[in-house]
Amino acid sequence: MKMLRWTGFLLALAALAGDASQEGQRWWSHILYLADDNLEGRNTGSEGYRKAANYVSGEFERAGLLRAGTEGYFQPVKFKSREIIEQNSSLALVRDGKEEPLALGEDGFISMRVDPAKSVEAPLVFVGYGLTVPEMQYNDLDGLDLRGKIAVYVNGGPASIPGPLSSHYQSAGERGKFLARAGVVGTATVFNPIAMDVPWARVALSRFQPAMSLDYADLDESFGLKLGVAINPAHLDKWLAGSGHSAEEILALAKERKPLPHFPLVATLRAKVAVKRALVESPNVIADLPGTDPKLKSEYVVLSAHLDHLGIGEPINGDKIYNGAMDNASGVATLLDIAEQLHQTNPKLRRSLLFVIVAGEEKGLLGSKYFAAHPTVKPNELVADVNVDMFLPLFPLRILTVFGLDESDLGRQIRAVAETMGIRVQGDPEPQRNIFIRSDQYNFIRHGVPSLMYSVGYEKGSPEAAIARQWLTERYHAPSDDIHQPVDLKAAADFNELTMKLAEAVANQDERPAWNQDSFFRRFAKNSE
Ligand SMILES: [Zn+2]
Repeated sequence: MKMLRWTGFLLALAALAGDASQEGQRWWSHILYLADDNLEGRNTGSEGYRKAANYVSGEFERAGLLRAGTEGYFQPVKFKSREIIEQNSSLALVRDGKEEPLALGEDGFISMRVDPAKSVEAPLVFVGYGLTVPEMQYNDLDGLDLRGKIAVYVNGGPASIPGPLSSHYQSAGERGKFLARAGVVGTATVFNPIAMDVPWARVALSRFQPAMSLDYADLDESFGLKLGVAINPAHLDKWLAGSGHSAEEILALAKERKPLPHFPLVATLRAKVAVKRALVESPNVIADLPGTDPKLKSEYVVLSAHLDHLGIGEPINGDKIYNGAMDNASGVATLLDIAEQLHQTNPKLRRSLLFVIVAGEEKGLLGSKYFAAHPTVKPNELVADVNVDMFLPLFPLRILTVFGLDESDLGRQIRAVAETMGIRVQGDPEPQRNIFIRSDQYNFIRHGVPSLMYSVGYEKGSPEAAIARQWLTERYHAPSDDIHQPVDLKAAADFNELTMKLAEAVANQDERPAWNQDSFFRRFAKNSE
């Protein structure tokens, strides 16, 4: 069938036979609903998200899946929301008692990811990458007096630290933990140009979106920080003035992922912050396709995808609805498509499949963090997570880029499945983007569950690489990630088929999935193995 996809006649026959999934039509129909302007970008806590969650639970019901939330299909999650009131907020550098105001949005901005104090004034210390990696005896904070100070760092890490290790210690939780231990009161992050998926102008606009954290004391990871600031790399010289170091020097080193110097800045930072706070709630949506093996059915292979996107924000080209068609209506649509396909074929899998559709991903992987801490099945019954997030079917699926490929035997499974489809598998070609820790699989990993994420891949320097790069620059986290964009339905259909086959293979394999002996992430599995 796939080879004859150009033949309109056969396509029509396939449609007549109800086989719409073959060419991605059913997948696309879910996106048409979820990324419609009517859902207003599915922001966590919003009415649009609620509609999307109802749609997903309705589709689960149609596909005959069991309710596996705490309230039917739903697992409600509570969030604290913060929005900056920028007209009542300010940042300034103070040198020799002289205040130099910073232009918010231009020189930098105040991030709401950290719940800020009303006013903060503290000396600035440049701490390189701000990283601590005990396994490598690497410590950017070593020998520095950071008590009561603001740590300025470039996000990223030196090339000497292996990818997964570097990604892990760059996660907000890990980097924050060591910075807090050193006594810092705030952080100022220089956006590293080599890791920026979108231009600064769009990064800066995102400061008006509400930031959130989980409203549960046991899941708090704020470390008592009082201020979080983002620094525009193009204006870094303003911050460094008088220190004897230049932006050119620092960014050139960061570009090569070389070691960075550590030094105190001449200035102190003075911040006044006004915040609008609220409490909101959005559910994760969870469904169960029970396994048929008497022993193995109490083991769950999780298929996860985030449903939330950015909602309504600052207009770009006159459009203020951030629809999130690829990010991540596309991943949710993949799981709905698979649920329907399994409903039709009824393959009798040995293990159970747990469909976990989460909220709050865009706010820092919060819905999955809540689920992984409070799963609706027994924690040690979660045996794997396959996460689908923004897999970008922009061109044919000939190469699959797999994050976590060499970490667990899920990597062997996906290689085997891809091979049957004539798809070549590659590891992460851009480790500096830290993708393995940037979506929901990371919360499963931190609870010891072997996980994978993957997307439609390309070769470095190829026309496809240029298409993917252009998509990130123009549409990622922009209102133009909507239903009016070119998408390769055949690539999506192939991706969905591959994901379904992977889920089936993992559900049916004899042994439960395990981390590779030499995987860094194996350490988190201590309690569940
Ligand atoms: Zn996103």
